[in-house]
Amino acid sequence: MGISKIAYSPNGLVHFSVGAIIQKEGKYLLLDRANVPEGFAGVAGHVEVGESAEQAIIREVKEEVGLDVRGCKPVFEETLYGSWCKRGIQNHHWQVFECEVKGQEKKNKESKSIGWYSPSEINKLNLEPSWVIILKKLEII
Ligand SMILES: [Zn+2]
Repeated sequence: MGISKIAYSPNGLVHFSVGAIIQKEGKYLLLDRANVPEGFAGVAGHVEVGESAEQAIIREVKEEVGLDVRGCKPVFEETLYGSWCKRGIQNHHWQVFECEVKGQEKKNKESKSIGWYSPSEINKLNLEPSWVIILKKLEII
């Protein structure tokens, strides 16, 4: 695990987060997070020092769900306040990408489970708060 990229802001320290929207036949790949902040979320993680957001999302998708990213395009960028991460930072500057992937998904220890969910199924899940904002902004839910 590398060193997370960090910045200072009037609201305190900011981490840089990346997230992946991975869709197949109208369903979205979400995982039930084993770490704080808990809840269902897309693949996500911190950008590390010396890494671009694109490099970070490719690495996180491989680490968290075992898939190879073949292409990604940015669909969301915003700083979200108030979701503490396990590294003790409350503010996260999010960059979310829609990713084309290859391979067979499999979970790692950072997830209780992973699965494909339709928008109506997503609406019934206990989502991680940042992902409520992201999925609403993208008009998925
Ligand atoms: Zn963080």
